[in-house]
Amino acid sequence: MRTILRRLLALALLATAPFAAATTGADDTQLRTLGKPDKPRFEIPEITWPADPGQAEVCLWKDDRYAAISITIDDNCRPDHDWWLEQAEKHGFKLTWFVITDGVMEGRNKGFNGTWADWQRLADAGHSIQSHTTNHRAAKKGEPPIPDEDLHAMYRDSLAAINAHVTNNVACCIAYPRGEAHEEIAAQYAIACRGVYGAPSEVNTVDYLNVNEGNYEQGYINVLLGETADEPKWLNKADRRFRRGWCAVLHHLVHHGHTQEEIDRSVAYYEKKLENLAKYKDRIWIGTFPAVAKYGQERDTATLKTVSSDARRIALSLADRMDDTLFDEPLTLKVRLPDAWRTVRAEQGGRPVAARVVEHDGAAYALVDAVPDRGEIVLSP
Ligand SMILES: [Zn+2]
Repeated sequence: MRTILRRLLALALLATAPFAAATTGADDTQLRTLGKPDKPRFEIPEITWPADPGQAEVCLWKDDRYAAISITIDDNCRPDHDWWLEQAEKHGFKLTWFVITDGVMEGRNKGFNGTWADWQRLADAGHSIQSHTTNHRAAKKGEPPIPDEDLHAMYRDSLAAINAHVTNNVACCIAYPRGEAHEEIAAQYAIACRGVYGAPSEVNTVDYLNVNEGNYEQGYINVLLGETADEPKWLNKADRRFRRGWCAVLHHLVHHGHTQEEIDRSVAYYEKKLENLAKYKDRIWIGTFPAVAKYGQERDTATLKTVSSDARRIALSLADRMDDTLFDEPLTLKVRLPDAWRTVRAEQGGRPVAARVVEHDGAAYALVDAVPDRGEIVLSP
């Protein structure tokens, strides 16, 4: 019931936009988006282990993974849907589609644009349906810029269309057509946007209103993991600043080519890349674009405190500065347990939440899922 209420609230909020620009909003605890920081938000940490029983920290990424990758798909690409579902199922990935909505609304070129039933099918399989605007308009070189009121409509109406037609999904993110970013306008409707600047996002300077377009070539995986990369060459100069970062990978049509042979070659190429990526699932969080964008912004504004800690019970408080109706992604908390504990039970606001024990150097730690501002977190053996 609470989930349904929250969803309705989120939809109502999205539907009643425009809002004051979130980054300058009056309520500093209910921000819609963080946008771009003036300076790094923190120093990039390695994976750390709190020393004293009861001591807790927010993991940089979900399940204490080292880095994050989101697989995103632009321009609808209906001919690829079955293939993507099969690949996602095979590897346990959840994907993000950035959908151009006008063609779907008007029932135009269904074989490429898809129907609302197609998008519902993907949402029901746990994938995320987000906005690539209503019409994919971008100003061509030498042409006048798109009027602001048109941009408002492109962002606002596409999100509203998805939220009106697709359930099991909240549309709150935008991919800019041709990467043409209009952050101030997007900030009134979206919690995060993806651009097309080709690089990983550094974890401590993510521009949530214009997230870079990454890749999952081996070189990118290596720099995310803080390892040396030979290719691509420019990543060598990166001075480890991309370690622990986030790549939002952009796909277009996979079944692409003039002949069947070309199409087969293209499909095989991507299948091999996904197969390779799957090998890193234990170290890299493969999360949807909104899930990673929410996690990052909750983490970047989180305050975690140990309220009390003794041999039988640890109580924690977790708050953030993001909009509670939209930011519902659990953060992973790492809590040093008393030595006698070998199992853990956790609840938040009186309801059970996921928790598991991991060991490091002979000490026990709990990894606990908790959403900021949803009540006290209590651990017991
Ligand atoms: Zn596009």
